Amino acid sequence: MVSKLKLAVFDMDGTLINGRLIEALSKKFGLYTKVKEIQNDSSIFGYIKTQKIASLLKGIEEKEIMLAIESVPLMEGSQQVISALKKAGFKTGIVTDSYSVAANNVAEKLGLDFFSSNRLRVSNGIITGDIDMPLGWDKINCYCKISVCKRYHLERQAMRYNIDIQDTVAIGDTQSDLCMVERAGTGIAFMPKDKQISRCNNIINRPNLADMLGFIDLNFSS
Ligand SMILES: [Zn+2]
Repeated sequence: MVSKLKLAVFDMDGTLINGRLIEALSKKFGLYTKVKEIQNDSSIFGYIKTQKIASLLKGIEEKEIMLAIESVPLMEGSQQVISALKKAGFKTGIVTDSYSVAANNVAEKLGLDFFSSNRLRVSNGIITGDIDMPLGWDKINCYCKISVCKRYHLERQAMRYNIDIQDTVAIGDTQSDLCMVERAGTGIAFMPKDKQISRCNNIINRPNLADMLGFIDLNFSS
């Protein structure tokens, strides 16, 4: 029996962490209502929303992102599930439409292998309002049109580690995770926040990430 590598990809906000970075940040700077208005505007594509929200953050010190992400606790069970997956030979990472400073912080805390995220531009420690978005839907013709196409980044990481897409697990809590959750060998909706992601076959309705181990075969071999 030769064990082979597998891949587990996590959404960050509301999945690996018990809260949302942009909520913590926007509340602190009185931008919460403006951010919500943009998020709820169904007339624009997701990546445009990301650009508009980034422009609201112009002038804020970059270190505030670090303070905000530190104020959001890890999801219960996250350390347990990551350590079980790593022991079973999984590569683990975050694919998020949040910001690289925050994703890097969470990835380091949990000892993950990678993260894909947006990158806020910063000049002399101050957020400029511009943002670099990895996109990806343009390359694979994905319907999501968000700043970080999670399906594209799931496929890219699987290719990078030479892992079959059937041997991937993806988990997330909102519509923005749907393209990835649908594509993964095992797709899981975690505490689903909207109708779209609730279509998923595998659903966890309890705020404990360790429950995802119930959907995964940890004793695989090839
Ligand atoms: Zn997509």
